[in-house]
Amino acid sequence: MSSSPAKQVVLVTGGSGLVGQGLQWVLENEPVGSRYGKLEGEEWVFLSSKDGDLKDAAAVEAIFQKYKPTHVIHLAALVGGLFRNMREKLTFLRDNLLINDNVLETSHQHKVTKLVSCLSTCVFPDKVEYPLDETKVHLGPPHQSNFGYAHGKRLVDVQNHAYNDQFGDNFTSVIPTNIFGPGDNYSIEDGHVLPGLCHKAYLAKKNGTPFVVWGSGKPLRQFIYSRDLAKLFIWTLREYEEIDPVILSVGEDEEVSIKTVADAVVKSIGFTGEYKFDTSKSDGQFRKPASNEKLLRLINSKGVEPFKFTPFEQAIDESVAWFVENYDTARTGVIPQ
Ligand code: NAP
Ligand code: GDP
Repeated sequence: MSSSPAKQVVLVTGGSGLVGQGLQWVLENEPVGSRYGKLEGEEWVFLSSKDGDLKDAAAVEAIFQKYKPTHVIHLAALVGGLFRNMREKLTFLRDNLLINDNVLETSHQHKVTKLVSCLSTCVFPDKVEYPLDETKVHLGPPHQSNFGYAHGKRLVDVQNHAYNDQFGDNFTSVIPTNIFGPGDNYSIEDGHVLPGLCHKAYLAKKNGTPFVVWGSGKPLRQFIYSRDLAKLFIWTLREYEEIDPVILSVGEDEEVSIKTVADAVVKSIGFTGEYKFDTSKSDGQFRKPASNEKLLRLINSKGVEPFKFTPFEQAIDESVAWFVENYDTARTGVIPQ
């Protein structure tokens, strides 16, 4: 008689957010038992802030007692685009420090087999030789525009190493570039550039008003589709074996300007009116090109089909279509007058 596989409970903090929804979509759409699909004996639990405030250690302990996770994907964070990060540096630092410390320490206390936390390319030094790679996280101060969030996230890597050195815990992290996709935070004031531009183009088309891109449109970014990132998270949880972080990104040659992104969004929404740049607004960091050499070397190493990223315009079209269909329930924040 063959024994059934041991039950694994994967707890996803921040499971209701952009990346959490991407994970849910991949697990519902990939074949069971496949590289990115659900496995037999595997249960996934997706948390939102309604399950408890992760800044509160007692709430985190209660969640772990309830679900008894064997594995944790830690996505929950105070997340915002450039402009919210510039306004609320202390809140970004403190909230994320508290959330991360509670999730890591409770995972340690409950002897979680593996924990994968989510960092961001904001953790890298502002002044460092490009391309960014996994060895350069701690080589200098981050860009001043988001140093609160960046330091909060950087410390997760420090904690992962300390938990591993002192207790042997298998805690690691990933570093995604700018993420977008269905279920994003489309708040104009608080969100990231791509969902913000979607929302602005939608309103400009609906109201016959100008479409305004903030800054010069010249900065460069790498974008990753949330559903591609979700597959890479599943790979990290199951197959990545280091404590050091791994960058999850498209290639450096796929950096695009903010103007290119704005053009693609405008085309996808079908907006044909006046289009301008507000150069009184900050450009933020000019570029932060990250290498995906380590990711590709590891994920494509086993004679399996190489990982395929969704073409950028297809991913934008899917995200825009989701936003237009779900405008009434999407996270749209306060609309600036
Ligand atoms: P998101 O859409 O804003 O979702 C954030 C998630 O965290 C939500 O599920 C939210 O719950 C939860 N959350 C926030 N504060 C919480 C608290 N105090 N207690 C409990 N839950 C809390 O964020 P995302 O874009 O999916 O980001 C996921 C991860 O990727 C984050 O670690 C972020 O730093 C990282 N990241 C994001 C980007 C990007 O471009 N978006 C880029 C690089 C890295 P509710 O839904 O209930 O509010
Ligand atoms: P970052 O990649 O961490 O800097 O964060 P964002 O996703 O917020 O991208 C910021 C870049 O997009 C800056 O160069 C901004 O000037 C530019 N940008 C242009 N329009 C917008 C907008 O409507 N919202 C945001 N967040 N950024 C915008």
